[in-house]
Amino acid sequence: MLNWTRKHLLGLEDLSADEINTILDTAESFREVSMRKKKKVPTMTGKVVVMMFIEPSTRTLTSFSLAARRLSADVVSFSKASSSITKGETLVDTAKNIQALGVDVIVLRHPAPGAPNLLARTLSTSIVNAGDGPHEHPTQGLLDIFTIRDRKKRIEGLTVAIVGDIKYSRVARSNIWGLKKLGAHVIVVGPATLIPAGIEKLGVEVCHDLDKAIPECDVINILRIQLERQQSGLFPSIREYARVFGLNSERLARAKDNLLIMHPGPMNRVIEITPEVADGPHSVVLDQVTNGLAVRMAVLYLVAEKRTDMGTTLITGGRVICPDQGIDQNLNLLLVDGKVRELTESRPHADEVIDASGMIVSPGLIDMHVHLREPGKEDEETIASGSAAAVAGGFASVACMPNTDPTVDNEASSEFVFLQAERAGLANIYPIGAVTKGRKGEELAEIGQLSRGGSVAFSDDGSPVANADIMRRGLEYVKMFGKAIIEHCEDMNLSRDGVMNEGLVSTILGLPGIPAASEEVAIARNVILADLTRAKLHIAHVSTGGGVELIRMAKRRGINVTAEVTPHHFTLTDDCVRAYDPVYKMNPPLRTQEDVNELRAGLRDGAIDVIASDHAPHSTEEKELEFSLAPFGIIGMESLLPVAITELIDKVLDWPGLISKLTWNPARILGIGKGSLRPGTDADVTLIDPDASWTIDVKQFKSKSRNCPFHGKNVRGRAVRTIVGGATKYVAP
Ligand SMILES: [Zn+2]
Ligand SMILES: [Zn+2]
Repeated sequence: MLNWTRKHLLGLEDLSADEINTILDTAESFREVSMRKKKKVPTMTGKVVVMMFIEPSTRTLTSFSLAARRLSADVVSFSKASSSITKGETLVDTAKNIQALGVDVIVLRHPAPGAPNLLARTLSTSIVNAGDGPHEHPTQGLLDIFTIRDRKKRIEGLTVAIVGDIKYSRVARSNIWGLKKLGAHVIVVGPATLIPAGIEKLGVEVCHDLDKAIPECDVINILRIQLERQQSGLFPSIREYARVFGLNSERLARAKDNLLIMHPGPMNRVIEITPEVADGPHSVVLDQVTNGLAVRMAVLYLVAEKRTDMGTTLITGGRVICPDQGIDQNLNLLLVDGKVRELTESRPHADEVIDASGMIVSPGLIDMHVHLREPGKEDEETIASGSAAAVAGGFASVACMPNTDPTVDNEASSEFVFLQAERAGLANIYPIGAVTKGRKGEELAEIGQLSRGGSVAFSDDGSPVANADIMRRGLEYVKMFGKAIIEHCEDMNLSRDGVMNEGLVSTILGLPGIPAASEEVAIARNVILADLTRAKLHIAHVSTGGGVELIRMAKRRGINVTAEVTPHHFTLTDDCVRAYDPVYKMNPPLRTQEDVNELRAGLRDGAIDVIASDHAPHSTEEKELEFSLAPFGIIGMESLLPVAITELIDKVLDWPGLISKLTWNPARILGIGKGSLRPGTDADVTLIDPDASWTIDVKQFKSKSRNCPFHGKNVRGRAVRTIVGGATKYVAP
């Protein structure tokens, strides 16, 4: 069984040692093809591979094209000269047009680091990085490692020197990641001006004296030296470079007998390597070229075929609830290649069969309101720990608020969230961009670019957009991109220094109160602005009965407004605050029993569309303060589902009603193609045991924080398995 489930090859940094070995082993089997008389296998017949080379590179292009043809794929080349990119079309637009032709793999060479990540995120096609600026050149790294492994029969324990321009070399980076993961000792050698700052933190040794390094090396990988570097003053002269760092026969005399010399080509003979060394017995440069072909065949094969390697999964005997299709029926669910294939009464063959008898089979749950704290407060939560908490709570997808440090208010910060989420590899994490720069409420953030960077909605949550005119402009502006503003509705003047609900309990406790009117005034203002602009408005965490009534009225008048409520607001009241425990301090605050009743009524009659957690992690030290000093916020991803089942099922909502508020409704508001089990959609599935009886224990949580008011609560029902993109990411213990 191949250890490969990735759709893309973006770099070696992300790969595990097992995955690298899988590629190398696959390459081994493909190398044999090149020795046959008929050098072709039908593996990729009918598939289309596009070579998108925005930066020219004849060698890499030729190698990839030949690799694809040997796998019987159809190959289309697309170079910058022939492209509309020169006419000002963006990379994503161009790639989307290409994808529309029915392409299976795009091989991308691009001068900008991260360009392949951008396409991987925005397209459904597999992306293979063929070199992105100084970032990575993963197939070159792989073929270098493959060549070493082939000659030395191992990587672990070898000493490999990489000599030359480390700073601008994508080859160096890919080599370092790959070699380190497989256990080699790596020395980077070059002039100090061409060694990037902090590289030793990757676990490599830095050396400026080639003569000193040579005797211990098993392999020397010589990088091509770009003449522009000398022109930009990074070393004094070609002659000096050749003398100090060039590999020549005298230097070689001190090397081990079985030293391997590699070069990614094309070579500057005489500068970084002399001809007699380049063509001498230690050199494996020609092997590298042959191996490059085999490695690229392996990579194309794995990314294009990974879906068949993932195999098919049949979930049998469960009660399938899909609000999108109006299905609530006992059916078998077949997942193929990471997608939903069909819901059926028959029992098709599958590699993996999951018995879901007695379970509810739901589209992967979505929590559209969480705070993940990265960047800025990684001690409280990271995108990785938040992803683990999400899948443990049954959530295949979450949308995270931008009130991190720095704020997610530009394209790069939005992309950062995606990158970290991809690294974590558990849940789908969607960034929500800020409405205003720095969430200061003064100027609109770069909403268009945030959209391009993947932001699915906009919010200054944590704070309201206080200025009504800016809110109006924000609504008008996001409307152009078909997105919603998610608004934290609060009038800060009315809230003053309040720390809990204003009412009898706050009077008894002597704590300053936040009146219900603070929320209701803001909801009223915002639905009026939504009416004015005809834009999409989503009201976050409604806590008051009056708020529910305003939303109900707005919906009746045809205003484009939706709303969410949290489990704590429809379950707990301000009575909980009596012991001054900050685990009950959140904003908006816990209200009264009448409000709880009204929120439940809103859930029942559809005034409230969504249940979301407002997961807000805080460290124990930060939270264990006097009530008035402690921060607002509690965690909720891992308690949401059981609390909602316990409190609502058979009292307020039936199962399809609950599932729709956790899947199809938030998916529609965010405009993400999720929350459904319609054939062809991503295979995100949550299996729920509706009867499991258990006690919530924060010590078992995957979240880094512990501030959950439901700790110790006896509950019914839980997520027992979370499947994301066809792969199981969580199974309940
Ligand atoms: Zn809020
Ligand atoms: Zn929030």
